[in-house]
Amino acid sequence: MRAGSAVRVHAAALREWLGRQGSDLDRYRSRPASGGLAAAVAQDRGLLRMLHDAGWSRAGWPEQAGGLGGSATLRAVLYDELAAAGIEVPEAFVILETLGPVLTAYAPDLAVRHLPTYLAGEELWGQGFSEPEAGSDLASLRTWARVDGDSFVLSGQKVWTTLGQFASHAAVLARTGPPDSGHRGLSMLWVDLAAPGVTVAPIAAASGRDEFAEMFFDGVRVPRSGLVGELDGGWAVAMYLLQYERGMYAWLRQAVLHRRLAETAAAAADRAGPVAHAAIGAAYLALTSLRARSRTTVARLAAGENPGPEISVDKILLSRAEQAVYDAVLATRQEALLVGDGPEETALREEWFYSRATSVFGGAVEVQRDIVADRVLRLPRAGANGERDGRG
Ligand SMILES: Cc1cc2nc3c(=O)[nH]c(=O)nc-3n(C[C@H](O)[C@H](O)[C@H](O)COP(=O)(O)OP(=O)(O)OC[C@H]3O[C@@H](n4cnc5c(N)ncnc54)[C@H](O)[C@@H]3O)c2cc1C
Repeated sequence: MRAGSAVRVHAAALREWLGRQGSDLDRYRSRPASGGLAAAVAQDRGLLRMLHDAGWSRAGWPEQAGGLGGSATLRAVLYDELAAAGIEVPEAFVILETLGPVLTAYAPDLAVRHLPTYLAGEELWGQGFSEPEAGSDLASLRTWARVDGDSFVLSGQKVWTTLGQFASHAAVLARTGPPDSGHRGLSMLWVDLAAPGVTVAPIAAASGRDEFAEMFFDGVRVPRSGLVGELDGGWAVAMYLLQYERGMYAWLRQAVLHRRLAETAAAAADRAGPVAHAAIGAAYLALTSLRARSRTTVARLAAGENPGPEISVDKILLSRAEQAVYDAVLATRQEALLVGDGPEETALREEWFYSRATSVFGGAVEVQRDIVADRVLRLPRAGANGERDGRG
């Protein structure tokens, strides 16, 4: 069977399975009405368990790490079909797509230990890159680790770790070279967040949702087996990770956004004015461009290709589409979004806030445009200012 038709057969079987679950899936169609983020995380864990036990979330991950093998495209199919079936795609899949590929490629022993429990909804991980003084300029980060016998000793602070307060482990980018070693002196460490010396504190976003955490490390011992990739080779690992954070995430998100836009269009059908209809049209256009681009990217990632700086195009298209969709939601359901206080309105408002952040996380859009200009289109530079780090 050719790869394309195998994927179509898989998608059809998944769709059929989702259809057969009936009311068992109902509780996963919207965010919990109360209980805050903890309740949402608990709900996600339930869905992860269900998809794991039925095998759907294991498809596309290596067999030796608890998966069922097959192409990464099968994972993309899962996100698309869940959203199309009206299911809230768990945030845990975003983190999985960010860190899972890195573990399988650069730390297969850690993947064997942690991927199966993650897929079963028993673990959550965090991405510990950003620091108070290092975001777009990631290579200037200061959290440091030194080798001491058969372990590292880690100290410093990370910030904006998505769902960090629920995470059991985090991938932490730390300086193992001298302070001025830039991107050449970084290593990625897999840190047990229950270890002595770790403090994790939630941070509330502008929406009021405490979706991030800051993490403090004070002389934390990390075994040598927690090194992901090579010593001082963390930059290459981080760049590999960004392919998935920008590429696979954009695909997952376009699936969610299509669902949201369809709901918005249905709500607009008979009661919204021309401004809302124009916003819906603009969002549809942005979203269709994203889907077309993202489809190619997923195929490239699944084939083991490295899109390199071209992945910045996906990030730019995603930011545009995400914000256009929520502009359309706002234009259509202004009153609900601005002053509604029921669970649905609160969730919509949180999503609107999140859409504004899309142009910042995983690589700020201004920096992505620079990368496209410099490294994809090779446009001439005005006032060149040293090497850019590619993170944004
Ligand atoms: C919702 C959300 C989730 C996040 N989750 C995580 C996570 O799980 N783990 C993690 O490590 N981090 C996470 N982050 C942090 C994120 O990666 C950083 O916010 C991002 O890298 C930008 O860094 P910064 O916030 O320090 O902003 P800065 O780097 O200070 O940028 C501020 C502004 O300046 C602009 N700018 C900066 N440099 C340039 C330049 N060279 N050229 C042109 N413009 C420039 C940027 O475009 C931006 O608009 C998250 C952030 C958000 C909003």
